[in-house]
Amino acid sequence: MRDKDLYQQILGIERPWAVTHVDLNRAAQGVVVRVARDQRVALKCPVCAKRASGYDQRVRRWRHLDTCQFKTILEAEVPRVQCKEHGVHQDSVPWAEEGSRFTALFESLVIDWLHEASVSGVASQVRLSWHEVSGIQERAVRRGLARRPQIKATRIGVDETSFQKRHEYVTVVVDQDESTVIHVADDRDKAALEGFYKELGTDGCAALKSVAMDMWPAYIGATREYVPDADERISFDKFHVAQHLGDAVDKVRRRENKELLALGDDQLKGTRYSWLTNPENMDPVVAWEFSELRDSSLKVARAWAIKEAARPLWKYVSRTWARKAWLRWYGWAIRSRLEPVKKVARMVKRHLEGILTAVVAGVTNAASESINGTIQQLKRRANGYRNRERFRMAIYFHLGGLDMYPRSLRSTHTKA
Ligand SMILES: [Zn+2]
Repeated sequence: MRDKDLYQQILGIERPWAVTHVDLNRAAQGVVVRVARDQRVALKCPVCAKRASGYDQRVRRWRHLDTCQFKTILEAEVPRVQCKEHGVHQDSVPWAEEGSRFTALFESLVIDWLHEASVSGVASQVRLSWHEVSGIQERAVRRGLARRPQIKATRIGVDETSFQKRHEYVTVVVDQDESTVIHVADDRDKAALEGFYKELGTDGCAALKSVAMDMWPAYIGATREYVPDADERISFDKFHVAQHLGDAVDKVRRRENKELLALGDDQLKGTRYSWLTNPENMDPVVAWEFSELRDSSLKVARAWAIKEAARPLWKYVSRTWARKAWLRWYGWAIRSRLEPVKKVARMVKRHLEGILTAVVAGVTNAASESINGTIQQLKRRANGYRNRERFRMAIYFHLGGLDMYPRSLRSTHTKA
């Protein structure tokens, strides 16, 4: 039978295994490939590889890659062996990982597709349930994490990210040089980051050259406790400082808009985006309209000017000159009579040394920012995550830089 040979080749099946039957069931749109083990070849214990005696046999099935759109199932009687030392174990098969109901090639295909589409999207493509595909993703991540070598990061970024609409957070630690997520912890409290530092160990913590973060007491506290000379290594990056200033401008705008609307003046209506966009990225027509607002005597225009004035402060190379410039900015901001702006100004002053560290080192946090962008995309694609564990898995899957393919695939790949 030609098709037996064909499947033997496609599946990369070799002695002591061989394809014995290929059954096509047109009504069920399926192919069942039966594989049998040559009984004359001695059995080995899968733990110690020493000779072992046969115990019994069990029929097992694995979903394999479709054959011309026919769902393809691999079926084999797999012996269980009895080792004097290790007891009864199921013999390992070369086409699948232990305990999996899918062949390694099939799992690999699902892993590839999961990089392109959501779990439910892949599930309908490969005719599996959401839970089955999610299970393959979870196993892939566990495999990748188990294989991951000891973390050797020197420049890290720490950030929080929320999932779903409720205020639930995870803490994400990024290796800035590798642009990968190296840790995802529950919540955004001190314990969340402590868990990472504990895993990193004393030597790993001592090897950290910079830790970029938001001005967040929990993260600062954990870092001071675990990282030697923490205050020289902590940097408060541009991205987070700019975010706080943007929020302050928005608060001022909202309040002023309400006051103006009460007087029948709607000039601030629909302008939210303009106040938060960098002028150089603005559409020329919008920019022209915005320039009038910007040059007005509105409170929000004042807040905006202060926010914009902080932008060039990141370009200093000398710590001394940077400090002078930031303090001058602080003086202006604190006299602004705009409470949200003053609040950020005070925050900046309290954290000035860490900001200056970021300025002088040019810590841009570009890796963290792009990773954060990808996380936002994942959230949109998945329509939010049902639980934190699913969210953690997805972050590791897409951003962990992990080696996640089933190991047995390698052998079938190289031999094929
Ligand atoms: Zn053994």
